[in-house]
Amino acid sequence: MKVNAAILYETGQPLVVETIDLAEPASGEVLIRMVAAGVCYSDYHIINGEWQHPLPAVLGHEGAGIVERIGPDVTRVSPGQGVILNFRANCGVCHYCVIGRPVLCNGIATPRNTMFDGTSRLSKNGSILHHFSRTACFAEYAVVPESGAVPVSDEMPLDKACLAGCAVMTGIGAVVNTAQLSAGATVMVLGCGGVGLNIIQGAALRGARKIIAVDMLDNKLEYAKLFGATNCINSSKIDATKEVVEISGGGVDYAFEAVGNVSTVRQAYDMLGPGGTLVMVGMAPEQKEFSINALSLPRGEKTITGSWYGGARPWVDLPLLTKLYLDGKIQIDPLISRSYPLDRINDAFRALVAGEVARSIISF
Ligand SMILES: [Zn+2]
Ligand SMILES: [Zn+2]
Repeated sequence: MKVNAAILYETGQPLVVETIDLAEPASGEVLIRMVAAGVCYSDYHIINGEWQHPLPAVLGHEGAGIVERIGPDVTRVSPGQGVILNFRANCGVCHYCVIGRPVLCNGIATPRNTMFDGTSRLSKNGSILHHFSRTACFAEYAVVPESGAVPVSDEMPLDKACLAGCAVMTGIGAVVNTAQLSAGATVMVLGCGGVGLNIIQGAALRGARKIIAVDMLDNKLEYAKLFGATNCINSSKIDATKEVVEISGGGVDYAFEAVGNVSTVRQAYDMLGPGGTLVMVGMAPEQKEFSINALSLPRGEKTITGSWYGGARPWVDLPLLTKLYLDGKIQIDPLISRSYPLDRINDAFRALVAGEVARSIISF
């Protein structure tokens, strides 16, 4: 079928919105009519060349839509169902899948820019286009593996649900699944974009005593208050490390880094108190390294851990996030600052990079 999609042909260049060919879903695959897709920094890492990816490619990994058709051997979803895309579609049977860590699935040998069988469903004039993260949802329709389309309640508005597919899951999951934050803890969140704001609301949900938000932009700190930050620090104006240590009475129990920058990772580590845990959530450019004082880790009994996609178990967590939203226990609406049509997607990325928005979505 013919679909409009946003294609990255060359790094550093704008996406090109044009009509391409999308093949029918093969065995174990599902065709989704996209309703909305979020514009996330992970897509931008590929646009600006900080992450390597085969090109040309259709980007987009934070999406929700309606199942249009299913391929052979699909048993878990059916046409007409609303689904959130899971950008870590997994095999279900490898070591990591069976121990409940499907984000780390290593049971699929083919590269993630293809379907499980190693081929692409996307082409233009007979030439292959690559799928980003087996989602490729900056397009009117997407073919994804069955495990990458998680059904949610009919009551869930899909233009809100799309953000659960990355930002909400990544942020709340970092708190609940990765850090397993205890009530009464002190928390610092560095970086108040779409993911950072969800770390803040996750910490509030778990009963954190103090939630200190740090960002360089005042508009982001205003969002942070809305999501439950108890203290806000503009790190472009004052020494944030000193301030956090002072507010928390000697350093925080949990520091979440949601920028993906080497200097802010170190800064977040320096904000920890004794016994504190640094959770690295932000995704750095490839090849970057950071250093810490080696003695400070054992002497302070500190922990450094990483969290990818909030340690998601998408088939459990995405329906749960949906329920929390419908029950009024988490917010998604204020995360959506703007909605753009697909042909203005480059404006959405410009707004993301300029820090103007919590999140923008593409509406189809
Ligand atoms: Zn993302
Ligand atoms: Zn697996």
